[in-house]
Amino acid sequence: MEKWDGNEGTSAFHMPEWMIQFADQKQEFNKRPTKIGRRSLSRSISQSSTDSYSSAASYTDSSDDETSPRDKQQKNSKGSSDFCVKNIKQAEFGRREIEIAEQEMPALMALRKRAQGEKPLAGAKIVGCTHITAQTAVLMETLGALGAQCRWAACNIYSTLNEVAAALAESGFPVFAWKGESEDDFWWCIDRCVNVEGWQPNMILDDGGDLTHWIYKKYPNMFKKIKGIVEESVTGVHRLYQLSKAGKLCVPAMNVNDSVTKQKFDNLYCCRESILDGLKRTTDMMFGGKQVVVCGYGEVGKGCCAALKAMGSIVYVTEIDPICALQACMDGFRLVKLNEVIRQVDIVITCTGNKNVVTREHLDRMKNSCIVCNMGHSNTEIDVASLRTPELTWERVRSQVDHVIWPDGKRIVLLAEGRLLNLSCSTVPTFVLSITATTQALALIELYNAPEGRYKQDVYLLPKKMDEYVASLHLPTFDAHLTELTDEQAKYLGLNKNGPFKPNYYRCLGLPRNQGHLGSDELPALELVFASPTTYAYMNSEK
Ligand code: NAD
Repeated sequence: MEKWDGNEGTSAFHMPEWMIQFADQKQEFNKRPTKIGRRSLSRSISQSSTDSYSSAASYTDSSDDETSPRDKQQKNSKGSSDFCVKNIKQAEFGRREIEIAEQEMPALMALRKRAQGEKPLAGAKIVGCTHITAQTAVLMETLGALGAQCRWAACNIYSTLNEVAAALAESGFPVFAWKGESEDDFWWCIDRCVNVEGWQPNMILDDGGDLTHWIYKKYPNMFKKIKGIVEESVTGVHRLYQLSKAGKLCVPAMNVNDSVTKQKFDNLYCCRESILDGLKRTTDMMFGGKQVVVCGYGEVGKGCCAALKAMGSIVYVTEIDPICALQACMDGFRLVKLNEVIRQVDIVITCTGNKNVVTREHLDRMKNSCIVCNMGHSNTEIDVASLRTPELTWERVRSQVDHVIWPDGKRIVLLAEGRLLNLSCSTVPTFVLSITATTQALALIELYNAPEGRYKQDVYLLPKKMDEYVASLHLPTFDAHLTELTDEQAKYLGLNKNGPFKPNYYRCLGLPRNQGHLGSDELPALELVFASPTTYAYMNSEK
């Protein structure tokens, strides 16, 4: 479970309130300050807006083009200038990226096919703030195909793929995002999405909570028309729960971060693949025979251990929870205390969601060339701050790779300064993002179409049946054939033949995931089982 008091490294959490404190609430964006001026208007933004998916390569990034997109006059081929991207001329490259992503996002493509008749998002005006990558482009274009109008900003100042943003702008999406935005640009882009004459959003799709926060602070009246918020990130979900707890949440919200499919795939399978990618790209290391210690044997830890074991590494595990510890043993890993192996291991990986799991004392005892990295949410798992002392020398050897050198010449290899290795240094598999994006699309459909009163001003999980539906939409990719319950079997198990197939409390380790976000006085997870009637009809419509 994630421990929220351990997130000092994440700006949204070391503040007393959920709100981010703005340096200057009243700044007017249309004054168009100079580049230096813009940077000086900086303020705190959430960590999720600076952690970056350094995903697909950029073919056309012209780093020599120093002009800020805000200072450029650009039009797409239909004459619209309702967007702000790095360079609209890159659209063709972005289109190719989107087409490649479509191949690995079968469920979104299936949702599009289903919407050929009645469009479940007709009339929806969605304002979105997510990473702008080829995968989110497939999501946006799906929402468009389902009838929604969208305006979009980036939730992260580094992660926008400029070509993709250009392709979206070219095909008529008002997108306000580019790679390397200043903090002022970041809020300006969000503002351009919501502060529009003649257009008001009625749905929010957020990743990190910054967009929701902006609307709360600047345009609270907008919530009169907003039917719901769909939130993707741990950070944003935490903020929503805090709002709800304080009685300040004024619309229903869907926590897609904690839906079972998302948790299972993002944490386990995504990390199983991206841990190797992240290590390889940063260090070119060979895994066979290496001794690795993985701290935490939750979903992320299980993924990391499985991948490294398969590559021939000798894997040790540390755990505090006897159940997960026993699982590690049963899976064939040696359960140890970090102290017992710290002198001999070649790689240390943290994935606990906790703080100070690797301390300065551990770092002092590591052997020369030991690689240290983190796969957990916050950058506090490794006590990186303790390495910033005068006797230690830091040497940046590659992007995201630092050598920290002790006075006797010993050096450790610190990756991504202790931030999430895979988000900082590798790509995330598109298929995993397909699952998340499908969950987001369905959550939007559900909140938009739910009858009055079905959802209160609270935070909900996606109805169980819809979670199963997300998984089922991905099965055809594998030519997988699902067994159907016979009437007799359904009766025997006390189940509806069409699902849901597990009770709400069924999870990998028994408890709904989001209980971990809230500490001891947390709210119960709200989860309905079935989709509301309109969503149900759409899900079951002919393809
Ligand atoms: P989890 O709760 O299933 O697992 C964490 C495990 O760490 C638990 O079993 C817990 O008992 C153990 N633990 C806690 N403190 C420990 C300590 N001091 N020493 C050893 N073990 C300890 O969570 P999870 O789903 O595996 O996620 C772990 C972290 O990874 C979270 O911070 C989560 O937000 C993050 N995450 C990262 C990615 C990614 O792409 N890198 C994806 C999903 C989640």
